[in-house]
Amino acid sequence: MKAMFYEKRDDGRVKCRLCPHNCLITEGHAGICGARRNSNHDMEIPYFGRLSSLAVDPIEKKPLYHFYPASTVLSAGFWGCSFRCPFCQNYSISQNHDLHSDYFSPEELVQLAVRKKSFGIAYTYSEPLIHFEYILETGKIARKKGIKNILVSNGYINPEPADELLEYLDAANIDLKTFNSDFYRSEIGGKLEDVKRFIRQAAPRVSLEVTTLIIPSKNDTDEEISELAGFLAGISKDIPLHLSCYYPTYKYVIPPTSPELVERLGETAKKHLNYVYLGNVGLRETNTYCPGCGECLIRRSGYSVSLKGLEGNSCKKCGTKVPVVGI
Ligand code: SF4
Repeated sequence: MKAMFYEKRDDGRVKCRLCPHNCLITEGHAGICGARRNSNHDMEIPYFGRLSSLAVDPIEKKPLYHFYPASTVLSAGFWGCSFRCPFCQNYSISQNHDLHSDYFSPEELVQLAVRKKSFGIAYTYSEPLIHFEYILETGKIARKKGIKNILVSNGYINPEPADELLEYLDAANIDLKTFNSDFYRSEIGGKLEDVKRFIRQAAPRVSLEVTTLIIPSKNDTDEEISELAGFLAGISKDIPLHLSCYYPTYKYVIPPTSPELVERLGETAKKHLNYVYLGNVGLRETNTYCPGCGECLIRRSGYSVSLKGLEGNSCKKCGTKVPVVGI
């Protein structure tokens, strides 16, 4: 499989144009993500089809609450990441690579989704975008079979490849890790503006939801969450925002986020957005309420989901249309 979005330099280096890092890679080395290498003065993608994880998950686990609620989805994970989050909850696959992991061709992955009777394939767990060629090819085959393509990602991709991939995506959950550019640059290893640009680009083209992991003392002020939610509301007040509790892992030993903190920040975000959800908050509710009359439309308890408040895409009580796809 030939790599896409790169250029060869006369001095033998290759420049990757896939994500905003735009790595200039010398012979025998890989870019920041570890997934794309300069081999014989050409771009090699050695992990094409090498999956780190494969499972059938509730769509709510991605999390996607407004896309085919109460369905299960075939979920495929990869190796590597373009970011270096010291709090990564999947660091064993995002910061590692294994050339000997199971190989699934794009056709085989789509066939598996068909066999599992999955309505879609989620590209998830570690960062899928650095495996652009695989997702694009699988996405094209899946689309022909009527299978949906779902991206769960850090949203770090240049506009041109993003445009090509969005053609085949149906839904996405993008991590907006903070609204602080310094935090993005110094601890995550990316630029806030580039993630914002992808969110703006994707919002009109797919069913989009956004997740922010709330880390105490890092991104937990009302001002920051208000700005973040205000940015999303500037695109659409209907973009669902998931505020999740962090748990210490990988390099971070900061104590876990309290559900009360996430609840308070959720109230702040609700001043801007119609749909704000709390994640990893134990038994606290994660229902969807009608922005028109306040009626409960979708009731969730763990991964058990009831759509009793909906009549098609509308509130049964007041008729307000709600942006939920696939019911
Ligand atoms: S996809 Fe990987 S190699 Fe390409 S620019 Fe991004 S980090 Fe660098």
